[in-house]
Amino acid sequence: MYVDAHNHLELYGDKLNEALKDIRENHIITLACSMDEESYLFARSLSKDNQIIIPCFGVHPWRAHNNYKDLDRFEKYIKETPIIGEIGLDFHWVLERERYPNQLKVLKYFLEKAREYNKVTNLHTKGAEREILDLIKQYNLRTPIIHWYSGPVDLISKFIEYGCYFTISVDIGYSKLTEEIVKTIPIDRILTETDGPTALEWVNGEYGYPSYIKNIVNKISTIKNLPEKEVKKAIEDNLKTLINI
Ligand SMILES: [Zn+2]
Repeated sequence: MYVDAHNHLELYGDKLNEALKDIRENHIITLACSMDEESYLFARSLSKDNQIIIPCFGVHPWRAHNNYKDLDRFEKYIKETPIIGEIGLDFHWVLERERYPNQLKVLKYFLEKAREYNKVTNLHTKGAEREILDLIKQYNLRTPIIHWYSGPVDLISKFIEYGCYFTISVDIGYSKLTEEIVKTIPIDRILTETDGPTALEWVNGEYGYPSYIKNIVNKISTIKNLPEKEVKKAIEDNLKTLINI
């Protein structure tokens, strides 16, 4: 099995059926992250007919400013989801500083619940890597997944020390920083992700289907100088240490 530990299935639009076929045919266990309640319910409905899809509930930091009220309405979804995500902070792409307090409010609510229900989290850390590391420690989170890390390389050892996992994304092969990050992270902490069809488009202009995950595994195996089969198996095993599949 391949692992796509961070995807957004609602972004495929009219290409959704093709994407689902791609997921099934290539046996890609897919963590379908959500942006908000609506996107979670969509992912959850897809998972009914596709056991290989695991719906994850969270409120993305980009959506925090319209979801920070009545947070307790989310508790029922948090209880049922195996992984909480996408959640986190974004001080890089979100330029409106007045939105940061709401990002923090929403994130802290989810972290409180992650601790209460002992859930794995899928964390967005863009421009807020140090803040997220401090919060992980403060909330004593269980094995968080750090999504598409692009922060300071010297912080990686701190995340690893804590017990974090990292998803390697579609910019591998295009980014020197990602190559360095892959070299730094031990193979037993690595997962792979596509982050939806538009992430690859952002990197090289190509529309990204889930099976692009194979290229990511291939590139990790080159950087790590390990057989591709071994890398694929290690990534599957890593996901199995986080959730029952
Ligand atoms: Zn995402």
